Amino acid sequence: MPLAGAAWSWWAAGSRRRYARCMSWHVVIAGGGFGGLYAARRLERVLPHQSSRVTLVNDVNFMLYTPLLPGAAAGVLEPRHVVVPLRQHLGRTDLRLGRVTGADPDRRVLRVDSLEGAGHELVYDQLILALGSVSRTLPVPGLAEHGLGFKTLPDAIALRNRLIRCLELAETIEDPQERAPYLGFVFVGAGYAGLEGLAELQDFAADVIEHYPRCRVQGMRWVLVEARERVMPEIPPSLAAFAARELGARGIELRTSTMVDEITADSVRLSTGEVLGARTVAWTAGVKPPPVVAQLGLPLDDGGRIRTDRFMRVEGRADVWAIGDAAAVPDPARAGQPCPPTAQHAMRQGRRVAVNVAAALGTGRARPFTYRTLGVFVDMGRYQAVASTAGIKWRGFPAWFLARTYHLLLMPGSVRKLRLVTDWTVALLFGRDAAELGQLGHPTALGAPAGAGTGAGAASPAGDGAGAAATVARRAPARGAAGD
Ligand SMILES: Cc1cc2nc3c(=O)[nH]c(=O)nc-3n(C[C@H](O)[C@H](O)[C@H](O)COP(=O)(O)OP(=O)(O)OC[C@H]3O[C@@H](n4cnc5c(N)ncnc54)[C@H](O)[C@@H]3O)c2cc1C
Repeated sequence: MPLAGAAWSWWAAGSRRRYARCMSWHVVIAGGGFGGLYAARRLERVLPHQSSRVTLVNDVNFMLYTPLLPGAAAGVLEPRHVVVPLRQHLGRTDLRLGRVTGADPDRRVLRVDSLEGAGHELVYDQLILALGSVSRTLPVPGLAEHGLGFKTLPDAIALRNRLIRCLELAETIEDPQERAPYLGFVFVGAGYAGLEGLAELQDFAADVIEHYPRCRVQGMRWVLVEARERVMPEIPPSLAAFAARELGARGIELRTSTMVDEITADSVRLSTGEVLGARTVAWTAGVKPPPVVAQLGLPLDDGGRIRTDRFMRVEGRADVWAIGDAAAVPDPARAGQPCPPTAQHAMRQGRRVAVNVAAALGTGRARPFTYRTLGVFVDMGRYQAVASTAGIKWRGFPAWFLARTYHLLLMPGSVRKLRLVTDWTVALLFGRDAAELGQLGHPTALGAPAGAGTGAGAASPAGDGAGAAATVARRAPARGAAGD
């Protein structure tokens, strides 16, 4: 009897699988950023409803619109307005929140940990990998302990909080020499992400420093360090030179052909021997695929990106596709090179891969990826930007206006567009505020002593809450003694 029962359930499971298989193809997308979201939306349109289902696995329930991250860091944009809630922008796609941990392509299985840590396997007919990238770090002593990334929303908010906290702490210090590192800010990496982040944050700091009399008198020091010979090799040299001049005019120091040798809690040592006093170091020196990409059992290039053909099909696999930052899709504009890791490539690859997956399932015709970069925008805040669109170079206010209009048009959904316009207008008319809300999302424990959760214990310039609280406590008597 138990044998008959086991045989029956084996037969039933197999028949369910066969029935499900012939009734509907299952397309699984790993990663819900620019590539994954645009692939899902296009699949919803091109795949027949009755014979296919689409599942999108992502570790958060939103897509981060990264080009607007500097605006969020600088307090121009409300953080929730620079993300796109996936559920609101997907139709029939089944969104699964979870973390992709690996895959077994021979068994057509993607391994996923749920939010609560339970592991399970998703069986697919076609798999699209769009897992994005993480900050590329180097073995620089002190980087892991003292550096901040600039890749995610928490990174951006942490950077803003660090800046405000440094100003608050600097204001309590009597000795200008001791105060100096709190007013020193170093960005490492002058690609467009680093440059935009630095420019927007410096602009924000220049706005709010009015409220910190001692800091204002002493002045801040902002330095951009770049290993290559010039800033932003992605854009034409004349535009990069304009951007560098604009930074110089704002008092931002540029160190090109220079590496960072060591970072401590309050200094940065450069390869030239120069030591900069700084308690804030932002690391924006490039990206690399997330570690899970190496666990997928797929061919990788030297940079760890998944190798694909022109159709974005992973080499040697008929049913696996890769797009976006994590994929080495051949660049139609540069023979032998992979596409650059940009949102404009990822979203177009997402749309095109959806068409190709549909073709693999019998609907339509597969087409190679042929997009060549049409333009690039670098928004530096304060009505300044540089842009290059279809061979035309723009700089200053027209470029700034173009950049904002472009991002506005690209942001999905009219409500989100309206929110952006409102935020930009409010910041333009009323400036930005210097409230530091680092304690948000970290509620006071029930029954904790009064005062806990006020932010005094939240992330400090040294990276630990206790350190900040203690520093403030140490400084307070000095301030009182000065008769403030
Ligand atoms: C500050 C900044 C500014 C930028 N500005 C521009 C710009 O102006 N123009 C431009 O073209 N590009 C810009 N970029 C680059 C652009 O953001 C990326 O090229 C683009 O996001 C790549 O898209 P993607 O789909 O490959 O990855 P992403 O958009 O990063 O999406 C990957 C998704 O996968 C999820 N994920 C990762 N690992 C897992 C896992 N193990 N399990 C589940 N989910 C996972 C992530 O949470 C994310 O949602 C900027 C980047 C930064 C950091």
